Amino acid sequence: MQSEAPAYDILDYLPDGILMVDERGVILFVNDAFAEMLGHETAMLFGLNILSLLADIDVFGECIATVMKEGKSLDSETDFIHSEGHIVHTVKSVRMIRNKEHIRFFVNIRNLTELSRLNKELRLSKELIEYQAQELSSLLNSKNQELEEILGSINEVIWYIDNDTLALRYVNNAVESIFGFTQETFLTDHTLWQQQIHPDDRELVKMFFETLSPGQSREIRFRIIRNDGITRWLNSRIHHHSRLNVFIGITDDITTSKTQSEEIAFLAYHDPLTMLPNRAKLKLQLEDRFAHPPSSEFALLFLDIDNFKNVNDTMGHEIGDHILSEVSRLIQNMLDSNDFFARFGGDEFVLLLHNSDIEHIDTFAERLIQAFKHPFKINEIDFFLSLSIGIVLYPQDASNTEDLIRHADTAMYEAKKKGKNQFVYYDASMQCAIHNFLHIESLIRDGLEHNLFELYFQPLVNSKTLRVEGYEALLRLPHPSEGYISPDLFIGVAETNGDIHRIGKEVLLQACDFIETVRAVQEEPFFVAINISSKQLQQEFFAYELLAYLKDRNIPPAYLKVELTESAVMDNIEIATVQLRQLKDGGVKIALDDFGTGYSSFAYLAQLPIDTLKIDKSFILTLFEVNSHRHIVEAMSNLAHVLGMSVTAEGVEESSHYEVLVDYKIDTLQGFHLCRPLPKELILKKLHENAPYFTPSSAEGYSI
Ligand code: C2E
Ligand code: CA
Ligand code: CA
Repeated sequence: MQSEAPAYDILDYLPDGILMVDERGVILFVNDAFAEMLGHETAMLFGLNILSLLADIDVFGECIATVMKEGKSLDSETDFIHSEGHIVHTVKSVRMIRNKEHIRFFVNIRNLTELSRLNKELRLSKELIEYQAQELSSLLNSKNQELEEILGSINEVIWYIDNDTLALRYVNNAVESIFGFTQETFLTDHTLWQQQIHPDDRELVKMFFETLSPGQSREIRFRIIRNDGITRWLNSRIHHHSRLNVFIGITDDITTSKTQSEEIAFLAYHDPLTMLPNRAKLKLQLEDRFAHPPSSEFALLFLDIDNFKNVNDTMGHEIGDHILSEVSRLIQNMLDSNDFFARFGGDEFVLLLHNSDIEHIDTFAERLIQAFKHPFKINEIDFFLSLSIGIVLYPQDASNTEDLIRHADTAMYEAKKKGKNQFVYYDASMQCAIHNFLHIESLIRDGLEHNLFELYFQPLVNSKTLRVEGYEALLRLPHPSEGYISPDLFIGVAETNGDIHRIGKEVLLQACDFIETVRAVQEEPFFVAINISSKQLQQEFFAYELLAYLKDRNIPPAYLKVELTESAVMDNIEIATVQLRQLKDGGVKIALDDFGTGYSSFAYLAQLPIDTLKIDKSFILTLFEVNSHRHIVEAMSNLAHVLGMSVTAEGVEESSHYEVLVDYKIDTLQGFHLCRPLPKELILKKLHENAPYFTPSSAEGYSI
């Protein structure tokens, strides 16, 4: 380093960039930190004009004007140009030093790139060890006004204390901004600094000085409480100088970064949205319980919100997040202090109940289910949610974290399979391979390879005449030992691995076969409704290919209906709109499936070419249990009619449902009460008997 005075050597030990320029901006002094920040050799910068290093000259000009007027500038951000061309973002403060002979501007520059700052700090603590104390002491003792000014413009507190009495011998005036007392006050009251240390940290600081051997340098973090009551975190790099009998230190206010790192530590074990413990914390909690056997029995409940994906997809993540917070709050309020509640991820939560008495668990799980009967009100919208809960008992069902979670998840899946909105205890027989993604995947491949997929057909019946208007095609995949695998299980897997496209083609083929067969025996028009996954709809030529296929097979498009869920449409509304329009223009009918679970935007709804709204079965199944469901169903029916659509209710399991739905002017009914999904042959048999009219429940026992 070169400089006007050798005394400036101290400045090379500071992490901040320090510059001195004359009134024209010519650099008279620069420390290593600044040169390094901009990727230059220190020596190369002497004599250069600072303007040539700046990204924005005007900002700097304004700053100098303020300094000329007020003597110093406030911290302001400045961009410098790195030798490699990129911008170095910094914050700087400028001071004016006026001598008899000249004016100097003293610039303190802090690189805002945290990494470079940390590197610098690392280097500094290393170098402090090697620091020539002789030089420092002569500098600090010097009455050099200019040096005092310089030390005063540095943001870190530089100090040294007597190593026996810990009395303060020197401190620069940065002390004021951190401690709140002026430099003078500290230099008059030599032990004032000790009184400001947080009582809880005093012992730590005392020990630190007692154990810092001569010649050694170390860092310490401690708190101070200022006179105004504010607590601040400080970091000090301290060197024990043996010959001078002093501790020399540089102290930095790290309150912000300390708070940040505490936050980071908190977040490592908590979910930022709900502030609940997260999966990692759950693991620790479980391990802790395993390690303390006396209180060992507990129940683990795995909670999953039903159809939550729909809410998220159609209402957006913000509302989804809001709902998750509300859900977690609701559940939290139902817990004892000994229970543990964590967010497992997404819409999954895990609960550890310390009371593993079966009666208690039953009551609690039932209360949970009931608590969800009330809507969650968000932005004036009522959201009806339900929970599927899987329950495992420790130690009966599993004895380690992984098995507990896995089994609870299996039981939860079982609850979904049984129709959601319920709790299921784990039992060992559930542990069949059917829940395994890879296994399902291999069954799908096998099914495609050997043409094992089979469409079942469930009649859709006119509510007034009981005439069969059409059939919903529902896919079945036989399983070697389980009978059939539910489409709820395999469609998800097929969507993930892309097999859904081959499956979709198979469905279309079999649906067309069925149309041909029925047409051969029945003159009256009917339709077959096939379910379309969002992944299919997103294929650019989906509608085009479907229409081409119908044409190929000589099937009038009106015989086909497609069922799409609201989320499939909303997933990618632009593509969906184009596809739907194309299908509609081609003559294919369109139904919006599972209506009411996805919270469609009515604005979109009115614009889409939809023929039928299919009210989700969850409303129909609980028509009498949940009062509001009857109002909702009636409102949805009215809405559909206002928009010129027909309305179908699925999940009609009881004759009582049937009567109410007729009252609500639901046009078409579908459900076990009328007929279960049946294989093609059985439908044909029924057609021969009383086609196309239906006798409710006449097909019980034949179907799945
Ligand atoms: P979805 O489209 O909502 O189909 C109606 C489901 O309700 C069918 O279940 C049907 O068996 C069932 N269901 C009908 N009436 C009643 C009733 O009265 N009570 C009750 N509790 N349930 C009733 P399934 O066949 O298990 O199908 C489940 C889901 O799998 C379907 O829901 C659909 O989303 C999907 N899926 C089925 N076949 C296909 C397909 O070929 N392609 C695609 N992409 N998805 C399909
Ligand atoms: Ca459907
Ligand atoms: Ca449905």
